[in-house]
Amino acid sequence: MMKYDLAVIGGGIHGAGIAQAAAARGFSVLVLEQSGLASGTSSRSSKLIHGGLRYLESGQFGLVRECLQERALLLKLAPDLVRLQPFYIPVYHNTTRRPWQLRAGLSLYAVLGGMDKSTHFHTLPRRAWANLDGLDTTRLQGVFQYWDGQTDDAALTRAVMHSALELGAQLSMPSTFTGAEIGAQGCTVHYAHNGQPQSCEASILVNAAGPWVNHVLDKITPAPAQLQVELVQGTHIIVSGKITQGIYYVEAPRDQRAVFVMPWQGKVMVGTTETAYHCDPASVQPLPGEKDYLLETLAHYFPRYRSPQQREILSAFAGLRVLPSGTGTAFGRPRDTTLHAALPRLLTVYGGKLTAYRVTAERVMQKIESALPQRKIIANTRMLKLNPPG
Ligand SMILES: Cc1cc2nc3c(=O)[nH]c(=O)nc-3n(C[C@H](O)[C@H](O)[C@H](O)COP(=O)(O)OP(=O)(O)OC[C@H]3O[C@@H](n4cnc5c(N)ncnc54)[C@H](O)[C@@H]3O)c2cc1C
Repeated sequence: MMKYDLAVIGGGIHGAGIAQAAAARGFSVLVLEQSGLASGTSSRSSKLIHGGLRYLESGQFGLVRECLQERALLLKLAPDLVRLQPFYIPVYHNTTRRPWQLRAGLSLYAVLGGMDKSTHFHTLPRRAWANLDGLDTTRLQGVFQYWDGQTDDAALTRAVMHSALELGAQLSMPSTFTGAEIGAQGCTVHYAHNGQPQSCEASILVNAAGPWVNHVLDKITPAPAQLQVELVQGTHIIVSGKITQGIYYVEAPRDQRAVFVMPWQGKVMVGTTETAYHCDPASVQPLPGEKDYLLETLAHYFPRYRSPQQREILSAFAGLRVLPSGTGTAFGRPRDTTLHAALPRLLTVYGGKLTAYRVTAERVMQKIESALPQRKIIANTRMLKLNPPG
């Protein structure tokens, strides 16, 4: 039976990042992915590499600082995959977040981002409003402009996995994890590769199965403790038309939640929503009510989308956030990653951000390294360039 230092379940951004970080430290690592790289949440995000301006509202300053640091690093390591975009926040007479709040929030964002050029912001002169892709200027009071990153989440995941494979990691796909026995000395891991049962041994098992994390834990012996989480679905729609100036950060007229209107592959993408989800993660689908909410928001700010001919949705997709169970809206719930060590040789990744995948992976390695054999470090993930997969 093959023996690895690490077996990782999940070929999303976290599984890829952990494989890269482990291989960079010289460990042997096998990744099991049941369908395709980034086939889960990691291809259904808002595709932003950002600090998360709105997380300042819920006081998540540490998360914002860390994400801004990772944003700066990814802009250097993956210039063909992560690009800075101008972001615009329009303020109308009835916008809930008032100019002084936005100014304070953007100033704090700049401080947390180290005050470099990419964290500068300003208000647009009135004469520039006409260039804003047809944004409604009726009762517009001002427009803030700042910078954040945009990526192709699935391409980024493939690039990180490619880097891991170049460092010696192995990927088995399609391979569905079916169970594991975890003992004091190591783990026996079972999976079905192309439907054929297979097993391997690993010193440590890392569960990076995204919204399936607790389904994976259900299959492990002895039964590990699980964290109580809620799955919250987020939908994006894609409509025809062009947005050329950058990304618009607007308040949904219905409930004042933040929604992005952004250019995406020559079309316009709008998202996202927050809807509690209780079914099989594989079956998540955009709901009619979510599509209406996003179309309504788009038409509210961009009058050309008020005509029925312009309101056709070309496609839509939904992904699942893994949030700690709790009271209150999903909007205010913590978005940082929880690393849960239920058994000595098992580590589970709950939640997290695409933006922070690298630092999350490094943290995973710090947690498990003492249980792994000594290996020779071959690379540092802070230095590894990421190229779009050919
Ligand atoms: C709507 C939405 C918008 C978001 N927007 C942003 C954003 O703009 N910026 C940002 O930084 N973050 C964003 N996020 C967060 C980010 O997308 C996620 O944190 C990240 O993609 C999660 O990656 P993951 O690897 O943990 O999970 P996933 O990408 O879901 O990967 C888990 C993988 O595990 C595999 N798997 C599951 N069970 C098994 C099994 N038994 N055997 C083998 N494989 C298995 C699945 O097939 C899947 O590929 C967003 C999230 C959502 C939901």
